[in-house]
Formats: sequence, C-alpha cells, structure tokens
Amino acid sequence: KQHIYDQAMNDITMLGTYAEQVEREARAEGRSLPPPVRLQIGEPSFRTPEHIRQAALQTIANEPLTYGPPAGWPWLRELIAAKIARVDGYSIDPENTAVTLGGTGALMAALSATVGPGDEVLMPDPCWPIYAMQLTAVGVTAVPYPLDPQSEWLPDIARLEKLVTPRTRLLMINTPGNPTGAIFPREIVSALLDFARRHDLYLISDECYDEIIFEGEHVSPATLLTRSELEDGRFIGIYTFSKSYAMTGWRVGYVVASKALTKTITDVLCANHSNISIIVQRAAAAALTGPQDCVKEMRDSYRQRRDLAVRLLKEAGRYVYTPHGAFYALIDVRGKRGEKRGRQFALDLLHERNVAVAPGNGFGKVSEEYVRISLGASDEEIERGVREICQFADR
Ligand code: PLP
Repeated sequence: KQHIYDQAMNDITMLGTYAEQVEREARAEGRSLPPPVRLQIGEPSFRTPEHIRQAALQTIANEPLTYGPPAGWPWLRELIAAKIARVDGYSIDPENTAVTLGGTGALMAALSATVGPGDEVLMPDPCWPIYAMQLTAVGVTAVPYPLDPQSEWLPDIARLEKLVTPRTRLLMINTPGNPTGAIFPREIVSALLDFARRHDLYLISDECYDEIIFEGEHVSPATLLTRSELEDGRFIGIYTFSKSYAMTGWRVGYVVASKALTKTITDVLCANHSNISIIVQRAAAAALTGPQDCVKEMRDSYRQRRDLAVRLLKEAGRYVYTPHGAFYALIDVRGKRGEKRGRQFALDLLHERNVAVAPGNGFGKVSEEYVRISLGASDEEIERGVREICQFADR
C-alpha cells in the first residue's frame, strides 16, 4: 500500500485519486473524516464562461468536424497574434504561433523541436513538476537552478552561470511562477535574456499565468527583443487558455516562436496529434473575441483568496511569501526544530484532517519544507484548509 501512496504523492496530479482512496478506507474502517478540502491542484473553481461553451455547441451543430491544419486554423492564429500584442506587449504574425494541446502540449512540442539526448536544460527549482517529466521524455538532462525563498523566489544569475557546461542548450523560465507566485521584474527578465544570449541558449518562457497578475507587471522576454531578434529563433513563449478563461479541461494553448522554429514545432504537433479539435479552437476564438470581464472577475477572486490566505497565515505566525501572480501560495511547514517535512506533512494532513495540499518536494529540492495550496479553490475551502494547515503545523 505504501508503494501506491508513494507513487501518488510523487505525482501531485494524482493526489486527488489518493484522497478518494483515503476516504474509501476511512469509510470501510467506520472512521469519520471531516469534509474534504482539496487545495492540491491548479484548477479554477469557476465554470468556463457561457459564451465560450455556446461557441463549442454551435460548432458541433453547424460545422463539418473534419481534420484541420496542424498549426491551428488561421482565424485562431490571427486572434492569438492580436492577443499577444494586447496582453503580452509584443507583436507577432500568425505564422509565429501554433495552437497546441494546452500549455503542456506547447512545452512538449517546443522541447521536442529543440533539444535531445546529450543536451542539458536549465530548469527552475522549484517548478511545475511536468517540466522534469517532459525533459525525461525527450531524453535530456535536467539541471535545476534555485529560486531563492529569501529573495522573493527569484533566480540568481551568478548561480546560473556556474551551472552552464558545453552541453547546456536551453533555459526554462516561468513568470508568473508556479508554485511560487513570483513575478520576475524587468531587470531579472533582461538579465536572463542576456544570459541566454551569452551562452547561445534557447529560452523557453512559460507565460501560462500572464493574465493572472495581482500587482506588478508581466514582462515577457519577447518585449525586450526586436522583430529580427525574435526571428533568430532563441525565444519560445508558452501560453494557455486553461488558467485565464477557466478552460483546463478543453486542452488548448499555443506556442510563439520564430517562423522557422514554428514550422518545426508544427511538424512535431502533426506527428503527435495531427491537429486540435475545431470545437475547441472555436471555443478558444470565442474566448479571445468575447467580453474580457470574466478574466478580470476571476483574477479579482484569486486576489481576494490570496489576501485571505496570507492574512490567516500571518495571524497564525507562519512565514509566507505573498504571491504576486498565478494562483498558488507556498507555505513553510518546517517543524519546531527546523526539520524538513513537507511530504510527510501533506500525507498526515490528508489522513487526519482530509485536507489535500501539494507537497513541496514534488516541485524541487528548494521547496521540500513547503506545501503548496491552490487559490483556485473556493473561499470556504481556502479558509478551512489554511486554518487546518496552521493548527497541524503547530502541533
Ligand atoms: N505551465 C505551468 C507553469 C503550469 O502550472 C501549467 C498548468 O498547471 C501549465 C504550464 C500547463 O497548463 P495547461 O496544459 O492546462 O495549459
């Protein structure tokens, strides 16, 4: 049984399944558990807005549901180019973008198109666990670089320099960041871009939370590039509809790169899945052409939940970095003697209090003494979950 638990805990996305198992066992043993609180996964508590759902229904009713172009339909690529200018502040042509199976698919296609066995890739620690899985899948060596909790979870370029070898090919960055909620300021983004130039590296910039900013500004490295530099092929931007529009289950995102690299990425997409369903692409188009109030309303809710979580944590005397974007908070659950216990803490918390959080070790070594909560959950869940975490941590 421990083996199954270990496996589940190693993959935070499976923690929900594990939680169900804990409940089943408690029922079978006649034990009663408190009502569940699920804070482990980055899932918005909102339904996909109605006009987006309607666009999908209309497509099913009225359109031939055939194969489509591997890079996505031209009408959607045009809307994406306009969104990049409106939200991310740089200009591209439709040929600089391809529609993918979520941000996950964009990342996987970008990695497959650029790196392979023998290469080393610099990856943040902590980071979204799928990075490490994807790097394993494409056969490269992941070289984690630390984000420092003492300096607002930002990277230190001097430490990055020390990790470069003749095999280093690519630098991955993520701002706003999962699991930290940190937003890289302009000078850090600029320093990272210079670093990539100096060592002739690809730069994958995961900007999946570009519209979930509570304070400060989102700076894409692409805003610091000229049009011709963008075409030199170093920069790759990763985006998704999942988070801004509460569309996690639709599986649609996009990649931005030079025209030449977009062609290679498109070949990878073609080999992987031919194309994304037109039903989903029409829904994505409706998200971009429809009212944008929904994005702001959801962001305002995440900000309120962030404020609630941070207030409760501070009242309980727990150190917490105030996340400035995305929808997560990392909570330090070090014991009284400073022991690192994020993983065991998460396991015990689920067993005894029926509160699921993501253990920090799933994101990297630096975050081992932390657990991550998602602010995508409801206010009630956050309130009860944070109180339980604090009481549990103080035992
Ligand atoms: N990048 C980061 C940092 C994420 O946290 C996620 C999802 O949680 C993604 C990319 C991909 O999301 P999706 O595949 O749903 O677009």
